[in-house]
Amino acid sequence: MGREEIQRLRNIGIIAHIDAGKTTTTERILHRTGVSHRVGTVDEGTAVMDWMAQERERGITITSAVTTAHWHDHILNIVDTPGHVDFTAEVQRSLRILDGAIVVICAVGGVEPQSEKVWHQASEYRVPRIVFVNKLDRSGADFEAALADMRKRLGNIFVPLVVPLGRDEGYGSVLDLPGNRLLTWDPDNPDAPPAASPVPKEYADIRAAGFERIVEAAGDADDSILDEFLETGDVDRDHLVPALRKAVLTGEVHPVLAGSALRGRGIRSLLDSVLDYLPSPLDVPPVTGTLVDGGEPVARPPNPDAPLAALVYKVMNDENRNRLYYTRIYSGTVPRGAKIRNPRTHTDERITRIYRMHSNRKEALDAAIAGDIVVLVGPKKTRTGDTLGTPQGAVFLEPIDFPDPVISAAIEPGTRAELPELERALAEMAIEDPTFTVKDDPETGQKVISGMGELHLEVLVDRVRREFGIDARIGQPQVAYRETVGGVATATGLFDREIADFQHRAGVTLEVSPGARSSGFAFVGTDDSADIPGPVPGWVESAARDSLTSGPFAGYPMLDIRVRIVSVDLYGDASTEMAVRGATSDGFRQAATRAEPVLLEPVVRLEVIAPQEATGDVMRDLSARNATVTGIEARGTREKALATVPLSRMFGYATDLRSATRGRGTFSMEMSHYEPATEAMKRFRSGA
Ligand code: GDP
Ligand code: MG
Repeated sequence: MGREEIQRLRNIGIIAHIDAGKTTTTERILHRTGVSHRVGTVDEGTAVMDWMAQERERGITITSAVTTAHWHDHILNIVDTPGHVDFTAEVQRSLRILDGAIVVICAVGGVEPQSEKVWHQASEYRVPRIVFVNKLDRSGADFEAALADMRKRLGNIFVPLVVPLGRDEGYGSVLDLPGNRLLTWDPDNPDAPPAASPVPKEYADIRAAGFERIVEAAGDADDSILDEFLETGDVDRDHLVPALRKAVLTGEVHPVLAGSALRGRGIRSLLDSVLDYLPSPLDVPPVTGTLVDGGEPVARPPNPDAPLAALVYKVMNDENRNRLYYTRIYSGTVPRGAKIRNPRTHTDERITRIYRMHSNRKEALDAAIAGDIVVLVGPKKTRTGDTLGTPQGAVFLEPIDFPDPVISAAIEPGTRAELPELERALAEMAIEDPTFTVKDDPETGQKVISGMGELHLEVLVDRVRREFGIDARIGQPQVAYRETVGGVATATGLFDREIADFQHRAGVTLEVSPGARSSGFAFVGTDDSADIPGPVPGWVESAARDSLTSGPFAGYPMLDIRVRIVSVDLYGDASTEMAVRGATSDGFRQAATRAEPVLLEPVVRLEVIAPQEATGDVMRDLSARNATVTGIEARGTREKALATVPLSRMFGYATDLRSATRGRGTFSMEMSHYEPATEAMKRFRSGA
């Protein structure tokens, strides 16, 4: 086991706008590589990757399951990523563990807002990508237009490796540019490899221009390519591919392939290109982590003999309620039976089984090595985002950054007796999904679940019903409010209490004032003149931070607030940490209450694309939702509107947009910022 094996690994994702054909492409890849013998189809609800019941019914991919396929002696770990915006946490966590990606673009729709968004996310994570222009067979498909759209929206960074021919007849063939040949698909047999023939004369110029573009891109990474091209007018494939690979790995250029996943066209070339151009774990920089005792970051190279560093990126139960830990091994080796350390919990976990996942079938392994993505079974206290390492030298890898939930709803079991079972089910799902939280509402005594959007909560409740057999109901969703202050106020908090025969006593005077939007919490410290001994400012800061979890207006977490210590009154030994912390909470609450508390609500950035004739209806609906429209641009026969809208006004938007545009509108939204919730404040004040 070693470099050879790691070099033949590809950890890839398939990312796209919803409906571009990600699942269909994955299914075709699994079929082509021999994993599944019959091709699942999304429309019949038999797709292998979309195995959760809800996904089948909704025809969308929700969970990033991983599946392994083999192609020419290589192992492909394919992580399916969701396209729906409610599940961007899933996209982000998969981007973290991927080395490369296939981006699927629809040859009819071009670059949709959601494709643009995931494209930029992938750029942020520096994931090398190849593009598959899909649905060439559909009427209205236009490869050149899709390519122009990509160049316009994403940059002049695309290098087609094929040129599809015969737009008006559903593109029955492509020019294979590096191969200098014409490939023609058999219209009657999707499984037959395309027939290869020499490039017909009338296409010689197209081939030459396309090939030159490839040579240029490869030449940027390796000068000798240009020399060879100038001398001979051609470049040997064995010379060209490694040079282009180098250019792709830097993330500066992206090869483009094309085909039709539904008809099995272009899948072989796509798979070949994954091997040729996407990185192996050896091609990406080693991860770094910090040791438990802190200090400088240490590198963990993709080497089976290095100390173990692994990231648990997803936790979920299988159908037998075994907890599966989807794990990327960055360095080292995990043998079955190993005891490995979770530095967050300071506990050792026993790995009882290791699996390679073939969608929902498992293959048992004796060991997992650096670079691989596998499922571990056995840990008890590990959760999503944790790092695992050797008992000596375990490091914390950079944690996965999960967004805070933005909507909540009360949840109730059908009968009182089901409550404990409901609590267990919710706790279980919260371990799996870090963007899902459960709390008790102290006022109503209800359980409140929070997540990333309406669909997210719906899916979770659906799972409670199906997987746990509990007849749960949820209430009207509500946005997750925050609080801040609108003014400046100062107050003195006191703590003076006898606890276990010891008098604890301190006074803390704090000034609370508004911070800049999206600044979070700022601790401003003290005037230099106020002479406060050693640990006290630290105690005050930490107690003030703890107080932010529940604001004075209605108990929501506080944001964008500044706190300054005006003075402290200390009473010798009586001013213990407990006393200082107690006085701080008291002072903070009083000051915040006087500093004009403000309720904040989440505001999203929305992009809507709709046919021109529906734009009027779309705009009327946006204005009824209190949206601020920030721009409109033409996109061919369609128009794109940009707006910011309070999230509370976005409930039911998917359904309304569908009816306003007869199903032809698409939208994407993402969290933008928090704004004062004027209407909601009136409602809270009147006690409604
Ligand atoms: P995803 O949302 O990106 O996973 O997209 P799906 O794979 O679920 O596909 C969305 C729809 O497009 C389904 O109805 C597919 O049958 C259809 N589709 C996918 N690929 C193709 C293709 O190559 N040609 C045509 N005509 N339809 C396709
Ligand atoms: Mg899908």
